[in-house]
Amino acid sequence: TTIYDLIIIGGGPIGMACAIAAQQKGLNYLILEKGALVNSLYNYPLYMTFFSTAQKLEIGDIPFSCIAPKPGRQEALEYYRNIQRHFNLNIHLYERVNSVKKQENGTFTIASQNRDYTAKNVVIATGFYDIPIYIDVPGEDLPKVSHYYREAHEYAFKKVLVIGANNSSVDAALECWQKGADVTMVIRKGEINDRVKYWIKPDVENRIAEGSIKAYFYSEVTAIHENSVDIKTPEGAISVVNDFVLALTGYRPDLDFLRLAGVNISSGINCTPEYNPDTMETNVKGLYLAGVVCGGLETHKWFIENSRVHADMIVEDIISK
Ligand code: FAD
Repeated sequence: TTIYDLIIIGGGPIGMACAIAAQQKGLNYLILEKGALVNSLYNYPLYMTFFSTAQKLEIGDIPFSCIAPKPGRQEALEYYRNIQRHFNLNIHLYERVNSVKKQENGTFTIASQNRDYTAKNVVIATGFYDIPIYIDVPGEDLPKVSHYYREAHEYAFKKVLVIGANNSSVDAALECWQKGADVTMVIRKGEINDRVKYWIKPDVENRIAEGSIKAYFYSEVTAIHENSVDIKTPEGAISVVNDFVLALTGYRPDLDFLRLAGVNISSGINCTPEYNPDTMETNVKGLYLAGVVCGGLETHKWFIENSRVHADMIVEDIISK
C-alpha cells in the first residue's frame, strides 16, 4: 500500500494551497474532501460578495480576474475550479475523514468513510463552516429555523426573524428585506458588529433607523414557536409573530476531531489548538494545521488572505526534515 508523504484533510482554498505547494516540491500527497471542491464556498449564500478583493483570494500564483471590486460566490467557485484544472491536484471529493491516528512507528493512519490511508505527515485544513453555534433555546430544532442562509426568495412576503449582527446576519437581513420580507433582527449587543463589511454597515444601520428593518438591541431570543418567537428585551419579555428564523450566530471548527487526533486545545474560551506558529506543526509531530481551523473559536482571526501562507510554511518544514 502507498505511504503518502502528506495527506491533506479538507479541499477548501487552503487545503488546495497546501496541495499546490506539496506538488511543486515533488511530495506524494492526497487531499481528502468530504464534499464538493471548496465545499464551504459552495454552501455560502448564493449571491454573497466576498469582503476580500479577488487578488487576496489567489492561490498558487494564479491570477483571479474579476471586474467588480470584490468577487462573488459564483466567480470564486469558477476560480477554484480553474485552479484544479490547472494543477490537476490529487484530490478525492465526497470522501469524509473520520479519524487521524498516529501509530507507534511514527506514521499516521487516516480513516476515511471508504478506507484507511497511511501518511508520514497530515495537514488538517477543515475550516469552521460545518458546525453552527446553536443558541440553545426551545424550538431551535423546528423546521422553520435555519442556521444557514442561501437566498431570499423563500422568505419573500413572510415574517423572518434574523438572529445576530455579524456579516452573515446583516447580509441575510438586507437581502430578505429587499426581496419583500418583513424582517426583524434580534441583536445581543447594542450595535451592528464592527467587522461587518464597511460598505454594508451604513446600509443596514440606515434601514434600521428608518424602521424598514425592525431591530431589538441588547435582546435575546428565549423560545421559538410554530407561529411566534419570544424575545427578552431591555423593556421586558415580548412575543412577535413569525414565519421563519435565521439563526446566523456563527460556526465553529470540529474541535473533537482535533482532540481525537491528539491535538491539545487550550482550556480558555477561545479553544485555541496548540501549534508552532513558525511551522504550523501541532503538539503531535508531523500533524499540521492550516487555514481558518487554527483559530479555534476565534473564527474571524484567519481568512484566505492571511492563511494561504500556511501552505509554504508546512511544506518547507516537511522537506527540512
Ligand atoms: P474551508 O474553506 O472551510 O475548507 C475546509 C474544507 O474541509 C471544506 O471543504 C470541508 O468540506 C472540508 N472538511 C471538513 N471536515 C472534513 C472531514 N472530516 N473530512 C474531509 N473534509 C472535511 N474569507 C476570506 O478570506 N474572504 C472573504 O471574503 C470571506 N467571506 C466569507 C463569507 C462567509 C459567508 C463565510 C462563512 C466565510 C467567509 N470567509 C472569507 C472565511 C472563509 O470561509 C475562509 O477564509 C476560507 O473558506 C478558509 O479556507 P479553509 O480552506 O481554511 O477552510
